[in-house]
Amino acid sequence: MKKNEKALVIIFGGTGDLAQRKLYPSIFQLYKKGYLKENFAVIGTARRPWTDEYYREVVKDSIDGMYDEQNVATEFASHFYYQSHNVTDTNHYKTLQALAQSLDEKYQIEGNRLFYLAMSPRFFGTICDHLKSQQIMTETGYNRVIVEKPFGRDLASATELNDEISKSFPEEDVFRIDHYLGKEMVQNIAALRFGNSIFNSMWNNRYISNIQVTLSEALGVEERAGYYETAGALRDMIQNHVLQIVALLTMSAPVSFTDTDIRNAKINALKCLKIYSPEEVKENFVRGQYGPGNGLLGYREEAQTAEDSMTETFVAGKLMVNTMDMAGVPIYVRTGKRMKTKATRIDVVFKQVPNNVFEDSDLRHDVLTINVDPEPSLSLQLNSKTIGQGFDFDTHHLNLDYKLSPEQRAAVPEAYEKLILDAMQGRASNFAHWKELQCSWKFVDAIRQAWDQNVDQVAFPNYDCASMGPKASDDLLAKDGNHWEFNC
Ligand code: NAD
Repeated sequence: MKKNEKALVIIFGGTGDLAQRKLYPSIFQLYKKGYLKENFAVIGTARRPWTDEYYREVVKDSIDGMYDEQNVATEFASHFYYQSHNVTDTNHYKTLQALAQSLDEKYQIEGNRLFYLAMSPRFFGTICDHLKSQQIMTETGYNRVIVEKPFGRDLASATELNDEISKSFPEEDVFRIDHYLGKEMVQNIAALRFGNSIFNSMWNNRYISNIQVTLSEALGVEERAGYYETAGALRDMIQNHVLQIVALLTMSAPVSFTDTDIRNAKINALKCLKIYSPEEVKENFVRGQYGPGNGLLGYREEAQTAEDSMTETFVAGKLMVNTMDMAGVPIYVRTGKRMKTKATRIDVVFKQVPNNVFEDSDLRHDVLTINVDPEPSLSLQLNSKTIGQGFDFDTHHLNLDYKLSPEQRAAVPEAYEKLILDAMQGRASNFAHWKELQCSWKFVDAIRQAWDQNVDQVAFPNYDCASMGPKASDDLLAKDGNHWEFNC
């Protein structure tokens, strides 16, 4: 892959949590691996009156433990510049323009600019307007913008946000980040499906019984309760991460493995997502909120939450993607906080053989399990004969765990590292297209509206901390004669 990228990265929200925990370490990894060498600079902007020297110390702190030699960190940090900047003040953009211009010349960057909006979306519109009106966007190189989640809180607000951004940036230059798309095993879904004829030929309603996607977190809302109260698990996890994974699992084969073709395939899958009526929401979606248990506080007892809060911290649902190949295959999804374990896992459950010639033996479903987090691995559950006399069956697993050495593990790029390099190199397939968001918001809005009318008459809290969610989540699958394969 091409090395020594020429890029000026301008981070709005340079003093924030995301920048310090994710962005600086990721940019440092790109530097250590040679994707960034001499021809890059980073401008961090935020309101605080920091100096370059202080900012560089903050950057070095954020990469603490990632380097052996002090001079590597010092050399890296010397590429960082700080500008105290209020995003609503036009004069500050004039200073930013001059700084960007001088760094472009100093590091021979040739006009490539990557704007990272690591701050509240309510500022995206004014930042994008100013970037254009104050000529911080260049004529000579690329101008790309990375935007963070949440991208709206419903279709109407997401449309408004998109309209604001698109006044300055065409769709191909807008990189909406979804860090799940940067995860190795999420990227592996397409490799498995379209690189192996055994899966490619069987990935349809003739052979698949159901698909299950679990994104479980062991932590509660922590210090994000203020935001979470206004969002909930449906907006925070289902609308973006879960539906992006569903799109990858259900899309038809792209014409080629290019950005446009992959995104078109995903858009088509999401367009086929069945939108539910309120009555169907009641049938197909379950919401939950954790109560106290196992020595942990319930959601309503956490700081910054209302004592009668109706915010959901758990969602399970049955989705139908009505493409020719996937119609009739239930896609069960669930996500929640304060669950038993932290994991991201996909189970593809295949149908049983149409005629069991081994009449005396109970054959199980074949199941392909893709473990995304915490450890990447694959497993294929099969029926096979027990070794020895007679003809008895046992369930066996073909396992692929990548057994990474500490050095290999250290070399695996973090999601943000992959995605920042993708954006620098103009690869958009691991970012959500606006049309994907339109479909996913439409789907989510229908559920939200039904819940706001309380169609399911749910009472919170309804699951214990450190459990796998409310019983209704198990019942959802049991109604169809299925069960969660992942039940730790
Ligand atoms: P944060 O509150 O820690 O940082 C916000 C930054 O914006 C700070 O640098 C602050 O100085 C700056 N800022 C605020 N108002 C400003 C103004 N008027 N002018 C200039 N700068 C201003 O937030 P964060 O956790 O870093 O999150 C940033 C964005 O990333 C949010 O949209 C959040 O939803 C998203 N996000 C964060 C995380 C995470 O792990 N922190 C994960 C996913 C998404």
